[in-house]
Amino acid sequence: MKKPPRQMPEQDPEKRVHNFDEVPLGYTKEDAIYEAQRCLRCDPAPCVGGCPAEVHIPQFIREIVEEDFGGAYIEILKTNSLPAMCGRVCPQEEQCQKACVYNKRGKPIGIVGLERFVADWAREHGTKEKSPERREKGKLVAVVGSGPAGLTCAADLSRMGYHVTIFEALHKLGGVLTYGIPEFRLPKKIVEHEVDKIEELGAKVVTDFVVGLTESVDELAEEFDAIFLANGAGAPQFMHIPGENLNDVYSANEFLTRSNLMKAHRFPEFDTPIKVRERVAVIGAGNVAMDSARTALRLGAKEVRVVYRRTREEAPARAEEIVRAEEEGIVFDFLTLPVRILGDEKGNVTGMECIRMRLGEPDESGRRKPLPVDGSNFVMQVDMVIDAIGTTANPIVARSATGVQTNKWGYFAVDEKTCATSREGVFAGGDIIRGSATVISAIGDGKRAARVIDSYLSSGGSLKKKFTQIKNTL
Ligand code: FAD
Repeated sequence: MKKPPRQMPEQDPEKRVHNFDEVPLGYTKEDAIYEAQRCLRCDPAPCVGGCPAEVHIPQFIREIVEEDFGGAYIEILKTNSLPAMCGRVCPQEEQCQKACVYNKRGKPIGIVGLERFVADWAREHGTKEKSPERREKGKLVAVVGSGPAGLTCAADLSRMGYHVTIFEALHKLGGVLTYGIPEFRLPKKIVEHEVDKIEELGAKVVTDFVVGLTESVDELAEEFDAIFLANGAGAPQFMHIPGENLNDVYSANEFLTRSNLMKAHRFPEFDTPIKVRERVAVIGAGNVAMDSARTALRLGAKEVRVVYRRTREEAPARAEEIVRAEEEGIVFDFLTLPVRILGDEKGNVTGMECIRMRLGEPDESGRRKPLPVDGSNFVMQVDMVIDAIGTTANPIVARSATGVQTNKWGYFAVDEKTCATSREGVFAGGDIIRGSATVISAIGDGKRAARVIDSYLSSGGSLKKKFTQIKNTL
């Protein structure tokens, strides 16, 4: 326990605010081996319990110590099809690394950094997954949405021998990994590589296909033996304050989609417009807010402020992303609530009226409730506002799915252990069952759903058959 942890090198803040290159640079081979040697290989290993996908952490770390990086990769793939992503964006401080025994005396093992090292090594050296012999199952499964939940489920079912079709509303696969998380945190070439590997397993991909509009879930049920709904929770939420309809007020969703998916940050190579003003306020303090603020800075804003009604302790963003935002010069206005956005006669933003807050007693969420400080209103000098206060379920898919129940927030109500919805043969997972969460929990759902869909279909279940039976009785 005496060996200090090896820090991952990062791009210098002054330099990185002028580019979209990745910020943390990854472990070298020597650093990875050193860090892996620190692992005590606990048995049972608490870190595994802290990972929603239950990655075999001590086993893959042992392979690193033995310098069998290909072996380490195969070990990770047993439970996680997207290690290069998780190795970059997993909130390790809340998951595997939080459970590491080293926390009692010092710093935990850099598990997530090691996962990234292994995935990057495998990509660069072309390690092939030793996939088991594909045994043809002859059944069809539809996967709605190609974020981490949908991709994982599609990969596992394809490996098992099912004919999987992924239906994706956008023109590119990857979900939030592609359209939401910026290049400087998750380079798109890495997302594309992991997506390609999943496609190579044989899943058919149909893009620009909005389930609920192009075809309903009920129509898919006539053609497929099972359906996995993994359409995420991508509908942006707004403050509903005066002035939110002014020019230069964006939802974070639109702002980041323009930059990441539509490549506005590579203007003039790509001609997607994105107007960034000099003084930008981002409302909210989650990962989405940090990504929006840091993107605005890289796109040329002179001053970017993050405005949040609680304190830093309650901020939902990953701790290290808050630190990186600060290092880059983002200003944080904690305990501050916007109440009105001000505009000129042309409809452009000229400022934002805010009120100072204080924390009261804990509310139903367990967090201390923010309360306004009377008479503390002031105008913040900004000319662009990005709403990053969260997203919710888009009802399009649910509306087209007869008999699939949703909860009061519009998310699909499922049995947590099986991802089964209230309609036989229809399963759901990822953000569309719990609201905006994490990549690794979406992966965990995709894995679980694939196992349950396999046992449903192997035991003779079929949505299509059931539909035909019902139709014949009418
Ligand atoms: P998504 O990734 O949302 O994918 C859903 C897919 O379904 C999308 O491709 C969408 O286009 C498609 N779809 C939607 N409707 C339809 C339809 N009707 N028909 C067909 N397709 C449809 N998590 C972390 O762990 N760490 C982070 O650092 C982190 N940062 C984030 C930063 C941002 C900006 C955002 C927005 C989220 C972040 N998250 C992070 C959360 C994480 O990305 C999500 O929890 C995760 O992507 C959810 O996966 P999913 O597969 O359920 O859905």
